[in-house]
Amino acid sequence: MSDSYIRLIPTNPGWQPAHGAAAAAAAYVASFFSGPDDGVEKVEYKFYDRMTLIDAGENTSQITCSRCGRDIGLDWLGDVVRANGSLSFDHLDVTVPCCGGVVPLNSLHYDWPIGFARFEVSAMNPTRSQYELDAEELAKTADLLGHPVAQILTHY
Ligand SMILES: [Zn+2]
Repeated sequence: MSDSYIRLIPTNPGWQPAHGAAAAAAAYVASFFSGPDDGVEKVEYKFYDRMTLIDAGENTSQITCSRCGRDIGLDWLGDVVRANGSLSFDHLDVTVPCCGGVVPLNSLHYDWPIGFARFEVSAMNPTRSQYELDAEELAKTADLLGHPVAQILTHY
């Protein structure tokens, strides 16, 4: 049993859209999967009280420190989340194990992009010939939302 998601988040982890803008952006995203050969299980949007880890599931395999350039195991992020008690954070600064620096979680290099956000639009198990959103679609989604967006491709 596996699920795939296209997740769209504001590039600023603290930013949230107005409700009307959120609904408009989600409706626009849903329209990509409405063709006769396309499909999607569910398109929805969510607001989060705090900055929340938008993970890529098994797509991410390695984290590299943005301060010293050394590799940080993915297990470390799991430990950070466990110590935090949830996927939601009040602030993103953490002490990294490689060089002992204090670095924002969203500044580390992930070999497959993940993000932190207080809002997301997600499409569950989407199918179409062109899978992910192209630059033009991302720009239009950003226009509707009122903020630039990043695309996270998640596979569990
Ligand atoms: Zn480091």
